[in-house]
Parts: sequence; C-alpha cells; structure tokens
Amino acid sequence: MIIVMHPEATSEEVAQIVARLQDLDADIHITSEGGRTVVSGTTESRLADEAPWAALPGVERVVPVLRGGRRVGRHFKPEDTVVEVGDLTIGDGSLTIVAGPCAIESREQMLETARLVAAAGATMIRGDAFKPRTSPYAFQGLGKAGLEILAEVRDQTGLPVVAEVLDPREVDLVASYADVLRVGTRNMSNQALLREVGRQSKPVMLKRGRASTIDEWIDAAEYIHNEGNSQIVLVERGIRGFDPSARNTLDISAVPLAKLATHLPVMVDPSHAAGRRDIVAPLARAAVAAGADGVMIDVHPRPSEAMVDGRQALVPEEFGALVLELEAVAGALRVDSSG
Ligand code: PEP
Ligand code: MN
Repeated sequence: MIIVMHPEATSEEVAQIVARLQDLDADIHITSEGGRTVVSGTTESRLADEAPWAALPGVERVVPVLRGGRRVGRHFKPEDTVVEVGDLTIGDGSLTIVAGPCAIESREQMLETARLVAAAGATMIRGDAFKPRTSPYAFQGLGKAGLEILAEVRDQTGLPVVAEVLDPREVDLVASYADVLRVGTRNMSNQALLREVGRQSKPVMLKRGRASTIDEWIDAAEYIHNEGNSQIVLVERGIRGFDPSARNTLDISAVPLAKLATHLPVMVDPSHAAGRRDIVAPLARAAVAAGADGVMIDVHPRPSEAMVDGRQALVPEEFGALVLELEAVAGALRVDSSG
C-alpha cells in the first residue's frame, strides 16, 4: 500500500498514518516525491481495503500495490538487480545464453555437449542430475554422479553450470556442485524448497509454474528473497494452454510484465515452452526482442538418442546459428542515442 499525502499535510497527519501501519506490524518506508510525503507499508497479510486509508486526514491518494509491496517488487527497489555468477552477470543488459542437454546421461554425452555449446557461444551450461519426471518409471537422472560430471564440465569449459534441485534435502548437495540452482515449474509452489534455496548463497533460477499467474510466480520469488537470497532470476517457460500444437504456450507478455513488477532479471526457456525443435529459434528471438535478459536452450548432439526431451533439443549446429541470430537481435535493440 502506498499512501501519498497532500503537499500541505502536517507532520501529525503523517505520524498518524505511520502509527496505524505500525499497529499492523507493517514494514514502513517514507520517501518524499514531488513535494509530497509518500508512506509505503507492507505486511505479511496484505493491507486491507484502501478506502479507510483514503479517508484519513492529510491523505491525497492511496495506491494499493498488488505487486510492488514485496521485496522483489520494483516499488521496493527501482533499479534492476544484477545477478552475479562468477564473472557472468545477468540483468545488466548483457545477453545470457544457457545451453545443454535436459539431462546428464553420461560423462561422454555431457562433456561433448558442453564443449560444442561453449564453442558456439553459450555463456552458461545446463545439465540436470535430478529430473522431475511425470512417470515414476522414467529416467530420474544420475544423481550425485551426474553432479560430479557437471563439476568436470565447469573445469573443462570455464563456464558456470546450472542444475535443477528437486528436494529441500538435496539443496546443499546440488549447491556444492552447481553455480546456479534451478527450481523447476513443478516446484514453483513448493515453499519448503523455496525457503531452502533462499537460505544458501548460490543464485537461483525460478521457473514459472506451468499453471501459475505472474503474481504467484513473483510471490514464489519473495519466499526465496525473504530468507536472505536476493540473487534470483525469473524464467518464463510456457504455461498450459488449450492448444496441443506446442507442449506449452510461451507467454511472451510475462517478460515485460515481470520486469515492470519486479527488479529481478527475467529469462525465457523456449525449449520447454515449445516441446518441439522447429519453433525454438523463433521463440528465442521473440524472447530477446521482448527484453529477456537471457534464454535457456536444450541442445543434444544426437537428439534421437536423448533420454529426456529429445524432441525439443537443437543439435549444436542449429544452436550455433541461433546464437548469431540472438546476438543480432540484441544488437539491433541497442539503439545508439548519440546519433
Ligand atoms: C528443465 O529445464 O529440464 C525442466 C524440467 O523444465 P521445467 O521445470 O520448466 O519443466
Ligand atoms: Mn527438460
């Protein structure tokens, strides 16, 4: 809730507002904008109705802040958060390109893929050791052995690595190998996991739940931030729609909406949105054009042999061509204002 006071409001009137917010245990911020005092208050339970506040003496207008009343909200921190992964920065206007296989299947497959995507211009490598599978009988990932392969990938390529964590009990294990932890779409609402990744120090990529609103996604990020970890990247990965032509419907509007509502970097995973390789490149280009800070692309040297998500994996040559296109799109957006 943002309460904008009249320019001629007295200090007693401001104090009355502050006292009421204190009674609600609100987090209170007082600023001065355009000659007016602006009081913002946030509580764990959302501040009720704006009407009683608007009626208090000295109040000019009340803005109920549905999104901004959170630590990840733009209203709390107007400047963009830049997430740092070693030398790599996400959210500072640079383009982050994460690439690799959906799952780590073997040492040879992972090292080969990592070498090829690194040569093609990836800035971070993906590869999961723990896979969330719909069927309990499907390949679940190599577990700790996969994480050891991932650490080798980082040593060989010099690039940071990101891996999914599925279970709060495995957060420390995954964090001891990966440079970035990823919370997947199925776990976006797993608050125990969100809290746990919020308590460790590695950056977190938070995928949007496949049936979650943008507001719910931002609340999930708030769970992480509230535990002390502000290094969060939001990742749009498509939502469940009614059209089976693609696996999911990529919500491009989520990119500017999440950037307006929060100060966090926003990336897009067009591979899991599409579920089919033939539209991954156009979706990735659209993501960059819409202002995404990066993309995450599934790449496999032999997609027909992939144990998970082969239908959506690009081969390394296709990925290389896409990197050039994405750099061209990002470059075209950097309009030289000096004329
Ligand atoms: C993945 O990136 O491999 C993955 C499982 O993604 P999502 O959680 O978006 O389905
Ligand atoms: Mn996958």
